[in-house]
Amino acid sequence: MAGALDGQVAVVTGASRGIGRACALELAKHGASVVVNYTSNKGAAESCKQEIEAAGAKAVVVQADVSKAADAKRLIETAEKEFGKVDILVNNAGINRDRTIQRMSVEEWDGVIETDLSSMFYCTNAVVNGMRERNYGRIINMSSIIGQMGNIGQANYAAAKAGMIAFTKSAAKELARFNITVNAVCPGFVETEMVAALSDDIKKNLLAQIPLGRFGTAEEVATTVRFLCTEGSFYTGAQMSLNGGQYM
Ligand code: NAP
Repeated sequence: MAGALDGQVAVVTGASRGIGRACALELAKHGASVVVNYTSNKGAAESCKQEIEAAGAKAVVVQADVSKAADAKRLIETAEKEFGKVDILVNNAGINRDRTIQRMSVEEWDGVIETDLSSMFYCTNAVVNGMRERNYGRIINMSSIIGQMGNIGQANYAAAKAGMIAFTKSAAKELARFNITVNAVCPGFVETEMVAALSDDIKKNLLAQIPLGRFGTAEEVATTVRFLCTEGSFYTGAQMSLNGGQYM
């Protein structure tokens, strides 16, 4: 299969479901070999691998809880061992534990910060050495519209996602001289299990705030991620906002 990403290797964290899975498939469709990471849902990760292989690309599945530094390191080391290098890192794994600040537990705060924010540092920290040596890298951090505008009941998630944007800008400045670009993707509300879990009332309210009148799809987010790896070579430190006009 000939594609713009032939010969390249991508690691996608949280690729068993939702946006991460769509990113893994999209990068594979363009020729990349993909490391499909998951934390607990082995069956979903294996089915993502099968879909990639059916499209004619290579994939391996690696279980790793990227909120833990040692697991993140093992994920990158396994990718380098399996495929010889990592060209693309998509820091996508994320959770939300929504609660007002008054009611939020320390565990709910820490869980979101560790999974959404610290994991990005752990994986980036582990991957940059090889990227610097080869003078090439594409790092994409899955932030969110919530990191740009804040939201009631999501102080932990908003802080993590805003932190991802600030990290992206610092890393972009630090790594540009090694031909490594670092960008944040900031989706609005996207039809995945994360959004399916919201009540009908909340969904109706949200749709009323979106000028395009619909939620986004995981495939639309994946196209943006893939663009940053193919044509988007002059983007670094950017926030790619795709949100149907909900935040401008
Ligand atoms: P999702 O459907 O809930 O899928 C989450 C993925 O992350 C799963 O593959 C899950 O693996 C993995 N994951 C969770 N914790 C992990 C950990 N500690 N280590 C490794 N993998 C872990 O979520 P989604 O809606 O696709 O969201 C993906 C990313 O996009 C998140 O960072 C989210 O914040 C961001 N985002 C989502 C939306 C939206 O509207 N959906 C909007 C903006 C930004 P398992 O299957 O093993 O549990």
